[in-house]
Amino acid sequence: MTHKCQAIVVHCMDYRLQSYINQWLETKFEKGTYDRAVMAGGVYDVYDVIRQVDIAARLHGISKVILINHEDCGMYGPGGTEERHEEDLDKAEDKIKRLFPHLEVDTFYLNLDGTFEQNS
Ligand SMILES: [Zn+2]
Repeated sequence: MTHKCQAIVVHCMDYRLQSYINQWLETKFEKGTYDRAVMAGGVYDVYDVIRQVDIAARLHGISKVILINHEDCGMYGPGGTEERHEEDLDKAEDKIKRLFPHLEVDTFYLNLDGTFEQNS
């Protein structure tokens, strides 16, 4: 590995959230210390997410995964309750931890007003 970074951050493509996510990331990480995977629906397709995590682990030696789902996500439609998002975030976290036991996984739910809630 010729170059390394700390983490991969996975979040939805939804344009309404990008400036909130950018600001939040600036408070959490130093600039240029994380990969970023922008996926429609966040963890909606967990296998797409796993593929990106695998690449980040192999190419950049990450130690941390940040998963962010959000309120009113178009990929989920009317079924996208906060509970459903929490469930999907938990399932994605479990799958990633099973496949990559050395990675730390943190999950968050982002409200449309820009507030982040840590999912436990
Ligand atoms: Zn979305």
